[in-house]
Amino acid sequence: MSTTINAAWHLASRPAGLPTAANFAWRETTLPELADGQVQVRNIWLSVDPTNRIWMNDADSYLPKLELGEVMRGIGIGRVEASRDAALQPGDIVQGMLGWQRYCVGPAKALTRLPPIPLPLSAHFGLLGHIGLTAYFGLTDVAGAKAGETLVVSAAAGAVGSLAVQIGKNLGMRVVAIAGGAEKCRWLRDELGADAVIDYKVEDVAAGLQRTCPEGVDVDFENVGGRTLDAVLGNLKLGARIALCGLISQYNATAPEPGPSNLAHLLMQRGRMQGFIVLDYLDRAQEAAEKLIAWHLAGRMKYRLDISDGLASAPAALGKLFTGANTGKVLVKVGEE
Ligand code: NDP
Repeated sequence: MSTTINAAWHLASRPAGLPTAANFAWRETTLPELADGQVQVRNIWLSVDPTNRIWMNDADSYLPKLELGEVMRGIGIGRVEASRDAALQPGDIVQGMLGWQRYCVGPAKALTRLPPIPLPLSAHFGLLGHIGLTAYFGLTDVAGAKAGETLVVSAAAGAVGSLAVQIGKNLGMRVVAIAGGAEKCRWLRDELGADAVIDYKVEDVAAGLQRTCPEGVDVDFENVGGRTLDAVLGNLKLGARIALCGLISQYNATAPEPGPSNLAHLLMQRGRMQGFIVLDYLDRAQEAAEKLIAWHLAGRMKYRLDISDGLASAPAALGKLFTGANTGKVLVKVGEE
């Protein structure tokens, strides 16, 4: 009988507005014996994502909703400690829905063995993985970004946004970054190469877009929605494309927000707005990873991690995404590598 003690955050209640620690319950249990086809994984890195908030709602999204009492769903990286499946061996490093817990016992077939990379393990979340794929394919495949075009990125100092800004630069675009706060804007301009910045906390976004994009916007990498999206819609060039990546300004809304008032510009400018979910690009992960690693090693792509130490910090780490306390990718270090 195994005597390893697991600790996990369970969904205790559904948030009304911002998620808080009260929505989670900490429970300790003994790990079960492995069944055929299962592995035991010791979790190392937990990715904390805005979509975690969506999963807490009482509604299905692109994944089924979480039921109350379940271990909080989360993407993690861990090391296989025991296996009853020939596909994975003890010592393998894997990624998957490992959950907000110290250990994950589950089917081997739900996990992906990570290839070795010439970078720290955490780069699988900071530069590659679902974050890198979202930024890369959102720009290249969804938006059809081209050299010489003007790109706007919102939530630009976050995980996906900061990569989208730099991918845009590497593709030869003129990049305008929207973020909250002087230090984030300085980082985007001075270290990541944004051509212009809009600090939406001190400047109206519509005015900022007129200032920085007097000829209009060709591509919008939209992470925020609400008023930000509306301002971009009002400043589109002919044939503009909007890659609708996320709507973080809406995730804690307690009542439906009014629709954008500038949709007429999408019509008049023959624009296209397309939503996408990174899961649809997983089979092309290698293609994006090769590009992102090459740019990084050539000094043309940085990534920044915002690390919280210990599983206990996960609820607070989630809160950072909605107050903007993070710069770069929010991670929780659950255990040693
Ligand atoms: P970030 O690291 O960008 O963190 C979120 C950031 O959003 C905060 O730092 C904050 O920055 C900004 N923000 C939060 N609330 C607001 C608000 N009300 N108005 C304006 N800005 C706000 O998170 P990710 O990079 O992980 O995710 C970015 C977006 O990408 C999200 O919308 C997410 O849902 C989406 N996403 C979509 C995927 C897909 O498959 N379509 C996959 C992964 C992510 P600031 O200080 O600048 O306000």
